[in-house]
Amino acid sequence: MADRLARALVHDGTVRALAAVTTDLVEEARDRHATAPTATAALGRALTGALLLAATIKRDERLSLEFSGDGPLRGVLVDATPDGDARGFVLRPATHLPPRGGKLDVGGALGRGVLCVMRVPIAGGALYRSVVPLASGEIGADLADYLLASEQTHAAVGVGVFVASDGRVAAAGGYLVQALPGASRETVDALASRIESSATPSQLVRDGLGPVDMLRTLVGDGVTVLEERAVRFRCRCSRERVAVAILAMGRKEIEAVLADDRRAEVTCEFCGARYVLEEDELGALLRAGDGVPS
Ligand SMILES: [Zn+2]
Repeated sequence: MADRLARALVHDGTVRALAAVTTDLVEEARDRHATAPTATAALGRALTGALLLAATIKRDERLSLEFSGDGPLRGVLVDATPDGDARGFVLRPATHLPPRGGKLDVGGALGRGVLCVMRVPIAGGALYRSVVPLASGEIGADLADYLLASEQTHAAVGVGVFVASDGRVAAAGGYLVQALPGASRETVDALASRIESSATPSQLVRDGLGPVDMLRTLVGDGVTVLEERAVRFRCRCSRERVAVAILAMGRKEIEAVLADDRRAEVTCEFCGARYVLEEDELGALLRAGDGVPS
């Protein structure tokens, strides 16, 4: 099952429902960052949550989630676009804790802290920023809490990652079911109890369900699918952006790096890509960059 996300309406359009299968992109994130199982679960849940939330915002914005806590993982930073690109990293990729209640202990790894949600206009402009305390550090409940606090909407958010015994990601996915204005109390209560009694998202993915079937399992019949599309791990870094970042260091700093190492090495923290700019390339940048700060 390739990674996909589905967007739907249920109950005459009064409830929004999204589901995603993210196994491949979470495995790619694990592989890029060499995360231990608990860190893998935290990163995968956050990436999946970001993709689900990003699919509910305007096409010209990007969504960023920053979980910071006092636990051993310290933090998770992810972002996603409405088009289905996601990237992210954790601050301590080697974090692994004993499982709690048969599940990877993401809440224990994050500890107490805050979730910062940002919506960044892609073409520039004012960004939206909201900070809420972490509910449990388990990611899904934190996102539901954020939606209640910031948008005053009731939502159920489930995100899950199943890590196989060899450390690889065997299944990952999630759902977001959100009451819109006009949803009746009975509808919301009935959906909540149905979702509560359903299998976890990673189990639904392990059972071979795609996002649309996940939605039918979670919310029942009457699902109007608006869209189903691919999602992927994709970073925005490039050699050109790295060059811009190096130039921003200033002429003196660049000359010092050249004198010491004869090259500059930059690793993108979001995807782990490594860029090496050799002496001649750096020299050309300095000669071309009239605007380079001294
Ligand atoms: Zn990158």
